[in-house]
Amino acid sequence: MNVHDPAEEIVALRAEVVQLRLLANNVPVAIAYFEARGYTCRFANLGYASMFGRDEQSVIGLTFAQIIGDEAARQIQPKVDTILREHRSASYERQLPAADGGTRWIEVSLLPHLDATGTAVGAFVLIADITHHRRAELALRESEERLAKFMHASAEGIVFHRGGIVTDANPPALALLGRTLPEVLGQPALDFVAPDQRERVGAVMAAGSEITYETAVQHRDCTRLPVEFIVRTMEHHGERLRMTIVRDLRDRMADQARIHHLAHHDALTGLPNRGAFIDRLEGLLPYARARGATLALLFIDLDHFKRVNDSLGHLAGDALLQTVAHRITSALRVGDLVARFGGDEFVVLLSGDQPAAAVREVAHKLLAVIGAPVEVEGASISVTPSIGISMFPQDGQTPDALIKHADTAMYHAKSRGRADCRFFEPVMAEAAYADLAMESRLAQAIRDREFVLHYQPQLSLHDGALVGCEALIRWAHPERGLILPDAFIPLAESRRLMLPIGDWVLREAVAQARRWHLAGLASVPIAVNLSTTQFQSVGFVDAVQRLLGEQGVEGRLLEIELTERMLMDELASVRDSLERLRALGVRIAVDDFGTGYTSLGHLKSLPVDRLKIDRSFIRDLPGDTGSAAIAGAVIQMAHGLGMRTLAEGVETAAQRDWVAARGCDELQGNLEAEPMPAAAFEDWLRARQSRQN
Ligand code: C2E
Ligand code: MG
Ligand code: MG
Repeated sequence: MNVHDPAEEIVALRAEVVQLRLLANNVPVAIAYFEARGYTCRFANLGYASMFGRDEQSVIGLTFAQIIGDEAARQIQPKVDTILREHRSASYERQLPAADGGTRWIEVSLLPHLDATGTAVGAFVLIADITHHRRAELALRESEERLAKFMHASAEGIVFHRGGIVTDANPPALALLGRTLPEVLGQPALDFVAPDQRERVGAVMAAGSEITYETAVQHRDCTRLPVEFIVRTMEHHGERLRMTIVRDLRDRMADQARIHHLAHHDALTGLPNRGAFIDRLEGLLPYARARGATLALLFIDLDHFKRVNDSLGHLAGDALLQTVAHRITSALRVGDLVARFGGDEFVVLLSGDQPAAAVREVAHKLLAVIGAPVEVEGASISVTPSIGISMFPQDGQTPDALIKHADTAMYHAKSRGRADCRFFEPVMAEAAYADLAMESRLAQAIRDREFVLHYQPQLSLHDGALVGCEALIRWAHPERGLILPDAFIPLAESRRLMLPIGDWVLREAVAQARRWHLAGLASVPIAVNLSTTQFQSVGFVDAVQRLLGEQGVEGRLLEIELTERMLMDELASVRDSLERLRALGVRIAVDDFGTGYTSLGHLKSLPVDRLKIDRSFIRDLPGDTGSAAIAGAVIQMAHGLGMRTLAEGVETAAQRDWVAARGCDELQGNLEAEPMPAAAFEDWLRARQSRQN
């Protein structure tokens, strides 16, 4: 400063002081100067003064103890003494109560002021507020501690890596890998990923993406474990760290597999269900089409399965279904597909290009293995299947069409006496359609009473006397004329329409017997054919008893005809029903005898009055030796058991003479009379009576 006027000099100095103060007050540090002697403050900037609740003027001349407080001064005094004595600077950190009630952290630097002689005459104090810095540090430390705690508390595996090199891993992650911490630290993270996944995981790592994805790790023993990776990037000490949460998916996969299995499989047999089967078939059809291969679809339905359920209970039914499922699977080749469609329906898809003959062979094998007796709850039962077969491509192009046509063919097998297999034929589809139309018409026919009974006489072969007549139902269709029972009874039977029809027949026959008896025309039993469902229906015997009572008709004027099949189930309850009917005076005949499998020994224990030898054996008499042998044996054995025999469908004198010569008791057939409406039957009776008189 080169100014000589003292006044100017003062002005200039003042300006300088103002500038310095401006500077001092605007630096982000608190500054003060203390004299060594007396430790009094000679200078303080605004930052310093306000830090201790003062202003720049009022702090001047105060001792540092007065400014910072005695307690703080006592602690700091030694530091001050040291710097003054040793002529070197020192710094320390301490906490101050902050205006907001919290704590501020300050970093204090003390610098000695040496005069020209090297004597320490004062000390500069520089204070920086490091609260912010300290808080950040603390937060980092806390978060690291938290992370460490979290890592160890987590049940899920956590791995940290930096630039692909593992820096940390928690116990669950190590357990999953079958490794110890030292074995993984410093190793490439990808080494622990399943080999087939390394490329993918490497790509995620390279991209630094924060994603969640399913992949697999490799255990020390080289097993591949499905896991989920949840990847995050973290800043740590200024470095980018990657944290991967490794979630063990084995349980979840197992659950999913179970759910998948449950959704696609039948819980009882473990076989694929309908949906799963259709999915598989849908997938196979394009290949078969491309290769020009044929496929065979077998629709298997158990005959009379409901009876097992009804009579032995659902547990027995379930056990039977499981056995059947097992038998089907065992009888087929590995590549064949077996499914259960529900209830007693199973479907098989034969793999490979099999000609029809081979398919038929498989079907017959299935018929045999499924039909073999099963031990269920101590009882030996056998349930035969009926099988329908459709072939790809000729019988259908879609799973739906193939299944529907196999189902149709199965129905035909059933209507053909069951325990059989049938290939689908296009006419069946028409028949199925006709059935459908017929079904709804049949329900209407029941409401509108469109049925009539025809009566066919039964005569003694010993003396030609009328011994009875059989009531045979006809459907007097308004447009189609008289429809014979074979054309609608199987349908009614399968669609549960047989009960109301059977009731009507019984009622009508009993009413007719009453009229003829009262008119003195005939006092012989009218035979009524029973359907399976009817005979098995609850309270059937009671209903018969009630009916006879209501009409005032003696039981001896009624006969019921049962087929062999009906007698084969549950002997005890069948015998009970028959005995109760017998007690009412009702007669019992076994119809179509010889076509079933009933042994005569089995019949012996049942109250049966007569056997009706099926007309298929009579038809070929006397020429056919097989028929002759059977018919002859039946007549002979029936007599041995005290039962009468009746020859059905006798059309010729030769047939009549043949059975008569073998000791057959009675006959029924067109030779004597065809089935006739009631009025015609009455005429026939009268004509006969007048002939005899
Ligand atoms: P089914 O009980 O064996 O009845 C005898 C069948 O043989 C009758 O056929 C009868 O018309 C026929 N027939 C009698 N004599 C001769 C003959 O000399 N030659 C030939 N070729 N056939 C003869 P239909 O009336 O067609 O009845 C067929 C079957 O329908 C019956 O066989 C029976 O199983 C069933 N059915 C008839 N009416 C009823 C009924 O009311 N309820 C039930 N559930 N089934 C019935
Ligand atoms: Mg009959
Ligand atoms: Mg018959």
